[in-house]
Amino acid sequence: MPVNTIKFQEIKEELSISNTVLVAVSKTKPVEDIQALYELGQRDFGENYVQELVDKQALLPKDIRWHFIGHLQSNKVKYIAPFVYLIHGVDSLKLLQEINKQALKNNRIIDCLLQMHIAEEETKFGLDQSEIEAIQLVLPQLNNIQILGFMGMASFSEDMDKVKREFLHLKSQFDLFKIWAEQNPMNATNKGISILSMGMSGDYQLAIDCGSNMVRIGSLLFGARSYPT
Ligand SMILES: *Cc1c(COP(=O)(O)O)cnc(C)c1O
Repeated sequence: MPVNTIKFQEIKEELSISNTVLVAVSKTKPVEDIQALYELGQRDFGENYVQELVDKQALLPKDIRWHFIGHLQSNKVKYIAPFVYLIHGVDSLKLLQEINKQALKNNRIIDCLLQMHIAEEETKFGLDQSEIEAIQLVLPQLNNIQILGFMGMASFSEDMDKVKREFLHLKSQFDLFKIWAEQNPMNATNKGISILSMGMSGDYQLAIDCGSNMVRIGSLLFGARSYPT
């Protein structure tokens, strides 16, 4: 299926009302599809797999802002550390420490979002409250990362009341973390907490209503994916 450029323009217009950032999720899709949206002005693209991201990054324009939105293994951070724009799925202290180490090697500061566990039923990756507290304690020593906010995935469910509860739960945790960050300068470099990444093709409007300001949309733009993720 070709890229749905009409849908892209519609979504862009819709998101502009609330100043929501669109991350176009291009995992499993060819570079031609990314190039097509690039030519329409899209610069933020999201990928889930390290090797795929590295391959695509080499072939595509250098001003693309690459968002890593998948589950990131610590031993693979080094491959994306030279260029990644924002890592959404930070789900352990160990991973955060490795990102800091690789950022230092590359003489960069890498922006990160903490992935919170919000799905009530499903076991998705994510941090819980005690893990957030552990991260808060060591943040002052991690001066090559910046935590800019939170990311979360709701349950894959038709039950929109449940999805809404999960989104509102994440928003309230985001607000608390933001207050904490204002009172406890996180590390030397931090710009403050500003990004709440939640919402995908099936639930992005609800996510925005619940306070999201960054949505990750794949299948609505690029069509269904041919292998499950
Ligand atoms: C694949 C993926 C998306 C995009 O999903 P769609 O339903 O195709 O919009 C968003 N976020 C994450 C973390 C993903 O893995």
